[in-house]
Amino acid sequence: MDNIQVFMRIRPLSEDEYRRDRTTESAVRFVSENTVAIPTQRTENFTFDFVGNESCTQRDVFEAVGKRAVERCMQGYNGTIFAYGQTGSGKTFTMQGARDEFTGPDDELRGLIPRCFEYLFDRIAQEEQRSGGNIKYLCKASYIEIYNESIYDLLDPLMRTCAIREDIKKGIFVDGVTEETVLDPTEAYSVFMRGTHSRHVSATSMNRESSRSHSVLMLMIQSMTQTDTDGLTEIRESMFNLVDLAGSERQKLANTSGMRLKEAANINKSLSTLGNVINSLVDISNGKSRHVNYRDSKLTFLLRDSLGGNSVTFIIANVSPAMCNDAETASTLRFAQRAK
Ligand code: ADP
Ligand code: MG
Repeated sequence: MDNIQVFMRIRPLSEDEYRRDRTTESAVRFVSENTVAIPTQRTENFTFDFVGNESCTQRDVFEAVGKRAVERCMQGYNGTIFAYGQTGSGKTFTMQGARDEFTGPDDELRGLIPRCFEYLFDRIAQEEQRSGGNIKYLCKASYIEIYNESIYDLLDPLMRTCAIREDIKKGIFVDGVTEETVLDPTEAYSVFMRGTHSRHVSATSMNRESSRSHSVLMLMIQSMTQTDTDGLTEIRESMFNLVDLAGSERQKLANTSGMRLKEAANINKSLSTLGNVINSLVDISNGKSRHVNYRDSKLTFLLRDSLGGNSVTFIIANVSPAMCNDAETASTLRFAQRAK
């Protein structure tokens, strides 16, 4: 399996878009099962590892992305899933699902995050049982928001900012960030929803959109293996990161000033840095050696140890099928194509 996998997901046309376009014709044309084009934009084709059309289900995305990411983490490697796309393209629907409350395993509309939690804790129970008590797992969740190149701790009631630090042994870590031990999927989801709720409340009180920040849910999965009878314990850690990115729509820098200008410039910068980092990693895996500029943005620096090496990265490029969004859709696909 390639270490960087790109999935494209087209959401159904919304009523608003239908009113604007006055047609149900899609801007995205399938050339083959996993190759598409946007004929109204340019003639180029885009090929991905997987393309989900309007009828792609939450379960399909979980099978193709979530399950594989969790399996990789269970093998002791790091895994990251990014949802990329313009505001309204379905990033949060894909990551979290259609509803806020945890409605249990029967809810078909729940997204990757609750599904990954369920699968992860199932796999943990399996492994613990299989080892006959030799292996024990511990999971800790942190949840942060990156806004204007500052990191906010969403699980801290005061949402304090944190600094990223580097340690020879620990690697990159967020200094002082809240870590919550989570024992089952319900607990993990309620920690996630608590942070999501704080994020919306603070965005509203500061009069800004949550689409202008990145949210990163980090799950540390620790396994402790008792080796023989000498009482030594081998500890392995993997990080599982679930990232709902800021909207990728072109940020207008003209006629903007002050905070809005800084905000727009920071979104542009961090998404383009993410693109550059992924591009360098692709080059490296193709045998070309290139320097990776992780330090150019908080997002890539934070995730440095989870991008590259043996880590697995999934990018889900979310797009709208509407003609009125064809330019943004083409731009999302161009970003995603750079990862291939
Ligand atoms: P984003 O997070 O990218 O801004 P959302 O996930 O909030 O976008 O999606 C925008 C709207 O479209 C929401 O009302 C959401 O429920 C709906 N939506 C997105 N993707 C789908 C899908 N695959 N199927 C049905 N509705 C969807
Ligand atoms: Mg969203």
